Order: sequence, then structure tokens, then C-alpha cells
Amino acid sequence: MDTVQPVGDPLLLGQRLVAILETGLRTATYKLATLMALVEHCIENLPAREHDSLAVPIPELAHRVLDLYWRQVRPFDGRELRQSTQSRARILIAATTLRHASRGASSLDTARLRAPEAYRKVIDDVVLCLAQQPLHRLQKLPGSPTSDPFLYDDAFLHDQVSRRTLRSHGDAVVLNPGVAHALARLSGLLKPALEVMWVDDVRRMNKFLDEDVPDVAGHLFGRSRSGFAAVREPFKDAFGPHCFYCRTHLPANNPIDHVLPWSLVGIDGLANLVLACARCNGDKSGALPALNLIDRALDDDRAISLEQIATSLQWPTQRDRVAAAARGIYRGQPTGVPTWSGFRQRERLDISFPPAWLRP
Ligand SMILES: [Zn+2]
Repeated sequence: MDTVQPVGDPLLLGQRLVAILETGLRTATYKLATLMALVEHCIENLPAREHDSLAVPIPELAHRVLDLYWRQVRPFDGRELRQSTQSRARILIAATTLRHASRGASSLDTARLRAPEAYRKVIDDVVLCLAQQPLHRLQKLPGSPTSDPFLYDDAFLHDQVSRRTLRSHGDAVVLNPGVAHALARLSGLLKPALEVMWVDDVRRMNKFLDEDVPDVAGHLFGRSRSGFAAVREPFKDAFGPHCFYCRTHLPANNPIDHVLPWSLVGIDGLANLVLACARCNGDKSGALPALNLIDRALDDDRAISLEQIATSLQWPTQRDRVAAAARGIYRGQPTGVPTWSGFRQRERLDISFPPAWLRP
């Protein structure tokens, strides 16, 4: 394709995406998962300049897609949720296979550590599935014979594309100039919209989910609170039983808070987790935290303690990932946007003197 034009207005790109996603009935949730994974990849790998292109390795995309389905394949109400109208849903089979091979690991990262060989094989399957299905269908209006490559060139992708063809393209798709910045800037709008569409699809594909079944969204996208209990005591030993935000003394069952909101980037690494009181945790909710809170979360002394906890719990800190995601999020924010700086306190964003992690 030599007709690629740089993206002008991110909103136009968003409207085009939503138009494609809202047209026709989806036969699987894969397009939504692929787009969500692309958005996350852009946030965490934001190019230095606004109009740069960005190569997205399909194996990395496959990891993110698998991560999205990781918790979703658990039984809901004692039943398996369908996410496709076809009988063989390849990505769900892949996720279930790896869950078994890793003895029910609670996260994909743990599964990779426990069962590296099975992980490699499953990623390979998902790579091929993404290339043969959602990656080229994502840019096509349902029913239309041709693709409109407004995100990336997909001319080499089709329903029967081979591993060899993928290899000859470096196992990657290359986002057009400006697309990475546009998707990162739109993340706060796109992610919730994609989740709503996803929940609708799952309800449609699973007739037993009538209006009375509670919290399908929570099952698909919520965090498992119980899963985080394991970090509470090690954190209290290392940092003292105090709220990270207001320093109040904590009761036994205090919340664990995601500094970068879970709703924006689903990073569960220790570097993104802090002890909080219920008051701060509730007030902060999905708000963007003030810059100095990210500074403190990424602080060197804290990192040393986190590394020790990571080793004993086998739970990665993902400090680099948190820093990269923070950079991707804040660089897309306009100056003056309100951020959460403490219980019932707001601070306007000012990055005229960016902290080290925010510099490209
Ligand atoms: Zn507090």
C-alpha cells in the first residue's frame, strides 16, 4: 500500500473503528480482543513522535489477547461461556489448554513460567488465528469484499495465510503513521466502549444469560479481589501498615489499589499495586493519578523491596511495563486535565517539567 495517509484527527479514527464494530453481528469476540490488545500495545510502546509508525509483533499481540481471555475462560455460573458462534473457538481452546498445562495458574505470566513449552505452542496457535481471522477482518465492513487499511497494511493476511508468509513479513503488522498515538489517546474512550460491546456479544452468544444473571461484566473484566490478598501481608511487612496515599493506619482487610487504574491498563505487576485505605481506594476509583503518585510507585527504594517480594511470591514487579504505560497515558493527556492527588483532592496535570519516566 503506498496510499497510506497519516492520521489527522484521532477522533475520526475512533469513529471509523466504532462504525466497523457496530455494523453487523459479530461471530466471535476476537475483533474486540484484538483491538483492545492493540490499544494496550500502543500505550506501552508509544513512539517518540506523534506521526511515527509502529511495528506490532503478532506474538506480543497474541500474548495480550490470551491474557484478556485468561480469566474469561473460567466457568461462569458453573458453565463455559461461548465467545464464538462456531463450535471450535481456537483462542478459547488455546487458553483452556494452557490453563491445564500450567495447573490453573492465576495469570498468564505465571503460566509462562510454569509451562514454557506449552506457552510457546499456544502462542504460536494464537498468532496464526489472529492472522487468519481478526487482524484482516478488523478493517473490513461486514459484507464488504475489500479491506480499508486505515490502521495497518493487511494485504498479506487472509483466512489461509501460512506461517511462512507471516515470517516473511517479520511476524508483525506495522501501524500507519500516527495510528499508535491516536489509539493511545483514545484508550480512555475506546476501552470502556469495547467492554460494553464484548459483554453484549457474550450475552447474545449464551442464551442462558438472561437479564437476571448478575455481573457478566465483572466476570469478564473485573479483577479477582481474592487474588490480591497474597500481596497484602508482604507489603505490610515491607512498607508498614499504612495507606500509600494518606498514610492512615490500615485495618486487617484493607484494599489493594492499582495505581494506574485497572480500567485503563490491566497491569497486575507489583509495581502497580499499593496498600490503600477503603476511603482513598473508593474515591480514586478509575481516576488518573497525579504525577507524583507515579513517581512514588516507581521509586527506587520501593523497587528494591518489591523485587524481594516478587521473588518470594513468584509474582513479577513489571516496573518497566508500568513506567512505559504511564508514559503512554500521560503523553496523550492535554495539559490541565484533572488528576487524583488524594482523598477529595484534584490537581491539574502539568508536564512542563516531566519526571524521568515521562521523557521519551
Ligand atoms: Zn488513604
